[in-house]
Formats: sequence, structure tokens, C-alpha cells
Amino acid sequence: MVRSVSILGSTGSIGRQTVAVAEHLGIRVSALSANRSTGLLEEQVRRLRPELVAVYDEAAARDFSIAVADTGVRIVSGIGGLIEAAAGSHCDCVVTAVSGAIGLQPTLAAIEQKKRIALANKETLVCAGDIVMKRALESEAEIVPVDSEHSAVFQCMTGRKKDELKRILLTGSGGPFRGMKRSELEDVTPEQAVRHPKWNMGAKISVDSATMMNKGLEFIEAMHLFSVKPADIQVVVHPQSVIHSMVELVDGTVIAQLGVQDMGLPIQLALTWPERCPSMFEELDFFRLRELSFETPDLVNTPCLALAMEMAVAGGTGPCVMSAANERAVHMFLEHRLGFNRIYDCAAAAVEKLGIIKDPDLDTIIDADSAARRFVEEEFGK
Ligand code: MG
Repeated sequence: MVRSVSILGSTGSIGRQTVAVAEHLGIRVSALSANRSTGLLEEQVRRLRPELVAVYDEAAARDFSIAVADTGVRIVSGIGGLIEAAAGSHCDCVVTAVSGAIGLQPTLAAIEQKKRIALANKETLVCAGDIVMKRALESEAEIVPVDSEHSAVFQCMTGRKKDELKRILLTGSGGPFRGMKRSELEDVTPEQAVRHPKWNMGAKISVDSATMMNKGLEFIEAMHLFSVKPADIQVVVHPQSVIHSMVELVDGTVIAQLGVQDMGLPIQLALTWPERCPSMFEELDFFRLRELSFETPDLVNTPCLALAMEMAVAGGTGPCVMSAANERAVHMFLEHRLGFNRIYDCAAAAVEKLGIIKDPDLDTIIDADSAARRFVEEEFGK
């Protein structure tokens, strides 16, 4: 079990749940990070007494160090601060719960220091999966997925040999607009889009779930984590979200992982793995569940998922450009500056316009990421 943990993105949804799990397990929280200084961050500092806090925004970091001067905690800022929070000697595990591509460099730094990566930032693998997985293999850093689907596959594959796997059955609830036509979604508001029927999550990922881009990003994430080809992954819509994903083995056996819809479960597992500890979460009640149902994904009305599956095959900078454009577009949608259906248009247009560079190095990926964001802002921003 992990002894001390650094939480990148500690005031977000996964970050807050990680704090609760760490307190439940008695794991020391040695570093925190957030974009800005907030009351919640100060509360976390005072309760958890970490060694280090990274506040990304420099001016906010200065203000924050004054606010918590009496605690003696060290405040750092910028990408360098984030890297120190992830890779410093204060922790043996880092939970990468930041949203978006900002998680990439800190994750790579932590891998180099052989930390356990409790990976909750799927954009890292989507943008640079080949590089991240290769470096993890070289440094022997463990990557334990926190995303519930990937945690499920990870658990189902434990003790299995890679060549026993026939395919991954990646389940998804279908989001709040399951069964609706794209033409019916023209006037969807941010408030409607973030109301997920099954999971309580942050705003960005909730919108991604509504467009099914989330499942698309998870498709690419799974490809890298378990080193399988796109053809070896099948998305299965499962509205109850009780099965968190499955693997089908070569003999036809299917192994599933089931549980309540609480991100605390995969977070806890990523911290205790390979051990298991009693948790503070509800038990799954089969008598209340009654039925589990399954549907084929509707790729016509969820073009984001179709695009992501295309990018999984295309590789290179394709997934990065798509994901960065999507991230920018989702923020514009949340700011009421862009229609819901335009999110897909942004991602597709960015890929079309910027093209795909094969076998990119890290700098090429970072450039592609910012070019995609710029493109969306220039072409679709108002
Ligand atoms: Mg997920």
C-alpha cells in the first residue's frame, strides 16, 4: 500500500474524493495542487498539513502563501511547481486528477522518479500514450488506472496473460442524452449537459459524457494502458453503469467488474493495490438493481465517439489535436459561447485543418495541442 500521496488537482471532483479516501486509509497527503487559490484549498492545507502546495497561477500562488503563511507549508507555482508536486521525494504515489493536457509533463516527471501513478487524467494517455507507456516500462513505474472502466479492465486482467485476452468490452452509460437524435440536441444548455444520470463528476468530463467524447477518450486510453489494437475494443452502452467494464478471453469467458457508481472505489484501489481494504462505500444491492441492459453505441448521433475511434486508428498527433480542440470547445460551451453540437464540429475541423503528424516526439505533441486550442478559439470563438 502507498504511504504518502501527492494529489494534483486536489480541489476538483476526483481530488476531493482522493482526500477523503486517503483520510479513511490513513495515507499521508504530502502535496496538493490547484489552478487557483480557493477557500477549499486553504481548508485542505490546514487539515492535511502537506509539505508542498502547487498553485498554478503565479499571482494566486503569492496571495495563497500569505494566506497560509502560519502553516509553514511551501507554495510553488507554474508548471515547474506542478512537476515538483508530482515528482518530489515527499510522495511515493501521485494521483493525477488535473483536467486536460496540463497533466502530461508532471506525469512524465513522476514516472521518471518511479512513483506509482494513480492515473485519473485520461488526456495524458490520449495525447502521448506511446511516450508515457514506453517511459513507464523503462522506469518500471506502476500506472494504476483510476478511471472506473480502466480500473475494471485492470482488475479483470489481473493474473491473466496478455495473450489470453480476446477483447475489451468498454462499458458506458450513454450519458444524459442517450437515445436522442443529434438534431434534438441543438439547444442543450451547459446546465442540462452536466447533469449526468449515474456519475457525479466535474463539469468538463460531464460534458464529455454527454457528447460521448469521454467514451472516445477512454477508448484511446484503454488502447495504450492495455496495449491493444482499436479492433480489440468494443464499446457497450450499459445504462445502469453497474458493470464498469469487462474482458472477453480467448475461450469465450467474459470477466466483469461490478460495483456501485462511486469514483472513491477505483481511487481507493489505486492507492491500496495489490492489496484491498474495507471501504466506506455502499454495497451493491442486487435485489434493488433488478436488471442490467446493453445497447450498441449509436455512432451516427454521437459523432464524437466515432471521431475518437477514427483517431485511435490514425494515431500520431490525431488524438491529441482532437482532445485539445474538444477541451477548448467544452470550455467555450460551458461559458455559453458555443452550441452543444458545435463541440464535435470544433474537434473534427481541428483534425481536418491541422492534419496528423506520425510518430511525434513530446515537443511536436505539445505544439499540436496548442495549435488545436488556438484554431478552435480563432475559428469558433465569438
Ligand atoms: Mg470513465
